[in-house]
Amino acid sequence: MAGKRQDAPRGAFFFDRDGTLIHDVGYLSDPGLVELMPGVRETLHALRAAGFLLFLFTNQSGVARGYFGLEAVESVNARLAQLLGAENERFFDGLCIAPEHPDAPPVYRKPCPRFILETIAAHGLSPDSCVMVGDRSSDLRAGVNAGIRAVRYCADIDDPAAAAFASENAIATIRDFHELVRLADGVGTI
Ligand SMILES: [Mg+2]
Repeated sequence: MAGKRQDAPRGAFFFDRDGTLIHDVGYLSDPGLVELMPGVRETLHALRAAGFLLFLFTNQSGVARGYFGLEAVESVNARLAQLLGAENERFFDGLCIAPEHPDAPPVYRKPCPRFILETIAAHGLSPDSCVMVGDRSSDLRAGVNAGIRAVRYCADIDDPAAAAFASENAIATIRDFHELVRLADGVGTI
């Protein structure tokens, strides 16, 4: 894979957080419980080195449900960034925390594609060079709704809705995070 960090970005990967980058323990608010999925750190560094921007896109309805505040989400994100090797609690090129309740009108909550679309516009990216990676159907739908490629990651939970949506939409399923590096070889090249 070619590309240097200072060049124009080759594309972007959007990552779901819980159940994708880290284990899904359900309404996570304790930074002490953050544990990376196998291969996540090496894979994200490899994608960045290959010229891709990296974004975090996480639904956190626990905020709207009153289970915890935004500051708890941010402290979990800071721990995630630390585990990924960030020096100043910022690892991603941008992130979106969607705190809405599922029953409320969506603002950014997946499957709404708004964050992806805004990010593509802000960075002048080609949708063909962008990938949404997640374990739930809402992640995959957000990618499809944004007109970008979606990849289903299946580790902690084999979500039947995600499996069905992936099958219906010819979305690839990976069980080893390292597979994203190989997949990225075909992304963002002409
Ligand atoms: Mg998830």
